[in-house]
Amino acid sequence: MKGFAMVKIGETGWIEKERPECGPYDAICKPLALAPCTSDVHTVWEGAIGERDNMILGHEGCGEVVEVGAYVKDFKPGDRVMIPAITPDWSSLEAQAGFPMHSGGMLAGWKFSNFKDGMFADFFHINDADGNLAHLPDSIPPEEASMLSDMVPTGFHGVELADVQFGDDVLVIGIGPVGLMAVAAAALRGAARIIAVGSRPICVEAAKFYGATDFINYKDGPISKQVLEMTNGKGADRIVIAGGNVGTMDEAIRALKPGGQIGNINYLGQGDNVCFPRIEWGAGMGHKHIVGGLTPGGRLRIEKLANLVSTGRLDLSKLITHRFQGFEHIEEALMMMKDKPRDMIKPVVTI
Ligand code: NAD
Ligand code: ZN
Repeated sequence: MKGFAMVKIGETGWIEKERPECGPYDAICKPLALAPCTSDVHTVWEGAIGERDNMILGHEGCGEVVEVGAYVKDFKPGDRVMIPAITPDWSSLEAQAGFPMHSGGMLAGWKFSNFKDGMFADFFHINDADGNLAHLPDSIPPEEASMLSDMVPTGFHGVELADVQFGDDVLVIGIGPVGLMAVAAAALRGAARIIAVGSRPICVEAAKFYGATDFINYKDGPISKQVLEMTNGKGADRIVIAGGNVGTMDEAIRALKPGGQIGNINYLGQGDNVCFPRIEWGAGMGHKHIVGGLTPGGRLRIEKLANLVSTGRLDLSKLITHRFQGFEHIEEALMMMKDKPRDMIKPVVTI
C-alpha cells in the first residue's frame, strides 16, 4: 500500500509498505477524509518526539472499515466510522486509573504517527476497535468528522483541564483550530468573558463566531500586560494555552488570578525547560494551578462530541478553510499546515 510518511526528522515523502495486519480485537480501515495537524509539523520538522524512520503520518480522519478481528462486536466491513487521534488500550491500568491517553506509558495512547503508522495511507490499523471506533452519523459529513478526531476533543480538553465554570473570565491563548474549539467549549460551559489571543483576521473572525468577547494580538506586546489592563489588574479566572512556546507559560501565570487554573494543550515542540515567574506564582503559594494534557481519545468521547455537532450545538464549518479532493493532495495539505498561509485555519482532504 501507499502512504505519506516522515522519512526522518525534517523529511517527508511517499512510501510503499505492507498493509497492516488485523489482530482479533482490531480493525483495518481505509480513509474517507483526512486532515494534517500542527502536531505532524512539530513531529517532522522540529523532531519533537525524536527520530522516526519511514513512519506514515496522520492521526485525523474518518474512514470505512475493511476488516475486523474475530472478537470485534460492534463493527463490520463497510461501516463508516469516526476515529479518534488517541486510541488507548482500554484494559490498561492507566485507563482504569482515568488516564487512557497514557495507557502503556506517558503519551502512549497516542499511537497513530507516534508509535505506529498513521492514517495517511491506503489502509490503517485500529487497536481495540470496539473501544476506539464510533459509527459515523449520516448527518455529519466526512470532512467535519475528521475535525472530531483531534481538534474538537483537544480544544474541549483544554477547557476541562482549566476547569472552566459558569461566569468565569477565560483567556484562550492561540486561536488556531484547537484554540477555536477551546473558545467554543468555554462558551458551552458558561464562561462570561472569553478573551482570545491571536493575530490572523480569519482566526479572530472565527473566534468571534465561537463566542469570544474580547481580543488580544500577542504581537502588540506581552499578553499578560494586555490582559491585566483589560481586567482592572485582576487577570483571568481560567486560561487555556493552545499556541505559543515554552515562554507562554510565563505569560499565563502572570495573567492568572490566584486560585485560577491553566489548562495547557499546546504541544511544546522545542526548548528544554518551561519556566515561570516566582513572584507572580505567589512565591510558590498563589494557588495558581497548572495542568497540561494529551486529549483522552476513545469511542465514548468522540460519540458525545459528535452529538454536539448532530444537534446543531457545535458548528464545525468555520474550521475548514481549504478542501482538497484526492489522497494525493495530502502532501500539499500538510505543507500548508507547515507554512500557515494567513487565510488558513484547517485544510481537509476527502478521498
Ligand atoms: P495552530 O498552529 O494552527 O495554532 C496555534 C496558534 O497559536 C496560531 O494561530 C498562532 O498564531 C498562535 N501563536 C503562535 N505563537 C503564539 C504566541 N507566542 N502567543 C500566542 N499565540 C501564538 O495549531 P493548532 O492546530 O490550533 O494546535 C495548537 C497546539 O495544540 C499545537 O501545538 C498542537 O500541536 C497542539 N495539539 C495538542 C494536542 C493534545 O492532545 N494536547 C492535540 C492536538 C494538537
Ligand atoms: Zn492532530
